[in-house]
Amino acid sequence: MRNQQLDPSRHLVIIGGGVMGAATASFLATRYGLRATVLERDASYATASSALSVCAIRQQFSTEINIRISQQSLAFYRDIGERLAVGADRPSIGLVEPGYLYLATDAGARVLQENQALQARCGAAVALLSPHDLAVRFPWLSTEQIALGSLGLSTATSGEGWFDGYSALQAFRQHAIAHGARFVEAEAVDFHTRHGAVHSVVTRQGDRIAADAVLIAAGAWSSPLAGALGVDLPIRARKRDVFALQANGPLPGCPLVIDPSGFWFRPDGDTGQFLCGSPPRGADIDEAPLDQVDHGLFDEWLWPRLAERVPQFDALRVTSSWAGYYEYNTFDQNGLVGRLPGTDNVFVAAGFSGHGLQQAPAVGLGMAELIATGTYHTLDVSPLGLERIAANAPLVERNVI
Ligand SMILES: Cc1cc2nc3c(=O)[nH]c(=O)nc-3n(C[C@H](O)[C@H](O)[C@H](O)COP(=O)(O)OP(=O)(O)OC[C@H]3O[C@@H](n4cnc5c(N)ncnc54)[C@H](O)[C@@H]3O)c2cc1C
Repeated sequence: MRNQQLDPSRHLVIIGGGVMGAATASFLATRYGLRATVLERDASYATASSALSVCAIRQQFSTEINIRISQQSLAFYRDIGERLAVGADRPSIGLVEPGYLYLATDAGARVLQENQALQARCGAAVALLSPHDLAVRFPWLSTEQIALGSLGLSTATSGEGWFDGYSALQAFRQHAIAHGARFVEAEAVDFHTRHGAVHSVVTRQGDRIAADAVLIAAGAWSSPLAGALGVDLPIRARKRDVFALQANGPLPGCPLVIDPSGFWFRPDGDTGQFLCGSPPRGADIDEAPLDQVDHGLFDEWLWPRLAERVPQFDALRVTSSWAGYYEYNTFDQNGLVGRLPGTDNVFVAAGFSGHGLQQAPAVGLGMAELIATGTYHTLDVSPLGLERIAANAPLVERNVI
């Protein structure tokens, strides 16, 4: 199957109908006429990361591949109404581009400068701002202990902000279905193989789905599937809590702010609502229950720090909260994308560790190209290949939040 186009009569099975699976199904159908069967165990997407995300997009990464993926995906999301139109229906995801603002103390300023130099070489516009610049631009922000900020700007080739991720998932899904993909509510639990190749996927209900090629895009739950094929994927379900706040009013021009201590916040609309969160306190354990949001994290740790950084946050109200899983790649916190080593016809797109929604258009297209033709055409995403695990060559990304 390598380097030759897959015959449209072949059976493709995608396990997982989140944004990655749905995007890949959409590109397979429209670019190659390949109508995948997408197995999704929960059509309500109650625990899917794509439905519980904060849905932000940035070019402020420290690796070229992540910057390029994000640029390509941004161009797609800017134009999603056109690209994923189904008849007269043009999907809308409410993309806004106020930027990400990374703040650094003296200790972190050099890293911001180095990252900005790489981002500039890739055509991503990022402004370095002194404490004075920050105070002028964002008068509501305390620059206490801040040595430097870096702010992503909106240009033809770059832009940072956020959008409605669930609408993006549904847009890909509807587009894929309109072009012949089949979404089936079923859970994949095992595979039948012959001579190193999978020839069918077994569902929990005991059905066997014929497969000439399989994509594992099961997000935080991808490891057990690879495990059934004898491959140990370093992807774990790591809970992240999100708090929705009502403040006394909006903060003019507020970007997604990342504090040196690790917390972040961003507006949610323009009437003084905000989302915020931080990495967990203590050990980052696997599969912590999603219905147990750590409210102590907000009351004891997050709120005092929010109020120090933005004095207006001294008065606010938590209006809701939720938790979702990062499909966390414990090896190097970057997507694992490409062929599953040791197998002939199994592919993986998982492990994005908190940046999968923004990467879905570029990675989904890359996966479709790889599955259909055996190679990448539009953007070579092979730096995210799984071979780096056996080679013990992590792709180190310094900007993981
Ligand atoms: C709190 C939070 C904030 C985030 N913020 C951002 C952000 O700002 N920007 C960003 O880009 N990303 C963010 N992310 C990450 C992003 O949401 C994910 O990277 C992305 O949604 C992953 O998409 P996916 O399709 O791989 O996984 P999912 O959306 O989880 O989809 C996987 C699907 O597979 C199904 N499935 C699992 N096992 C099986 C099986 N055996 N058989 C059949 N179906 C199965 C599941 O039901 C699920 O629907 C955030 C995530 C969280 C939790």
